[in-house]
Amino acid sequence: MKYKIALVKGDGIGPEIVDAAVKVLDRVGDKFGHSFTYTDVLAGGCAIDAVGEPLPKESVELCLSSDAVILGAVGGPKWDTLPGHLRPEKALLGLRSAMGLYANIRPAVLHEALLSECPLKESIARDGIDMVIVRELTGGIYFGERGRGEGPMGPDAYDTERYSVAEISRIGRIAFGTAMKRRKKLVSVDKANVLESSRLWREIMHSLAAEYPEVEYSDMLVDNAAMQLIRKPSQFDVIVTSNMFGDILSDEASMLTGSIGLLPSASLGSGKLGMYEPIHGSAPDITGKNIANPIATVLSCAMMLRYSFGLEEEALCIENAVSMVLKAGHRTADILGESNAAPLTTTQMTEKIIENI
Ligand code: NAD
Repeated sequence: MKYKIALVKGDGIGPEIVDAAVKVLDRVGDKFGHSFTYTDVLAGGCAIDAVGEPLPKESVELCLSSDAVILGAVGGPKWDTLPGHLRPEKALLGLRSAMGLYANIRPAVLHEALLSECPLKESIARDGIDMVIVRELTGGIYFGERGRGEGPMGPDAYDTERYSVAEISRIGRIAFGTAMKRRKKLVSVDKANVLESSRLWREIMHSLAAEYPEVEYSDMLVDNAAMQLIRKPSQFDVIVTSNMFGDILSDEASMLTGSIGLLPSASLGSGKLGMYEPIHGSAPDITGKNIANPIATVLSCAMMLRYSFGLEEEALCIENAVSMVLKAGHRTADILGESNAAPLTTTQMTEKIIENI
């Protein structure tokens, strides 16, 4: 099969890690007989430098006409003082909205070989961490009505959490679908004891649960979920939650796995087109040194194969290769821990992954 992939390499370490991921994809293409073609797309700080805006119209069109988008990272200190509408991050929000991406999928997996990197007690970490957080991305309090006013105690400010039945249903379907492909266990996290929007969220999730009888479904209040992630993370398979709760819980979950350089993510909408990116940023402190960990971006490519192209075997092949490399003790500097071994460069880590495919 042939697939057209848009590469938004972006800023900082973005080009280094995306180039690494492309090498891995090409190896997968050779092994399984697929052809991946790539188009470089300008977005972020580099686009501001080149054409004076973070997301040129042509870049949006190139992404929309592709089968999937891989994004490195955008931003950096060089552009930090620009006005809001000219910030590199605008490119991310602009792409998500133009591509209609409303679901953010973030797996958090603790590799057995990296148990010592987990900040939890070994007795808890040993039970394993292998979960996916499905976060609603385009609704809720981050997008609701906001403002400043005059309240009973003087000047005040407000933000509004608002969710429609349609928004909850579509993110719910993605979450149930994700659970069906995994261990068939879904926890919906809300604050239904206080918030009306959470009560609607719960109602819709319950009605969806009836459509997916194979999925073991439960509700959890967000304060309890924050605690349970630390107390017993092994209990979670798939978590679905709103924009703000997902923002916070997915960062908490990612820390449990040890390194920011390992974690992929996918942003999905109603169709097959998705955007795949590591959860970390552009890491200006290590840019150009060939020491960035490429694994988060490589695993994002595995997610692309699975979610946008339906290539499960190929996705697993990448994930297994990464596990084998870590099991064999190969480490980039960010996951070296207390080891005295010499860390691998980005290039060397990429070669190790390719050898294991
Ligand atoms: P960051 O994730 O870029 O870096 C945090 C720390 O983690 C740094 O010490 C960095 O060296 C390290 N790190 C990150 N990725 C790594 C990798 N693959 N391998 C090894 N070490 C890695 O976060 P930050 O420093 O807060 O942000 C830097 C810039 O990135 C900012 O401009 C921020 O706005 C932007 N950012 C972009 C995205 C995105 O494009 N999706 C996400 C987060 C931050």
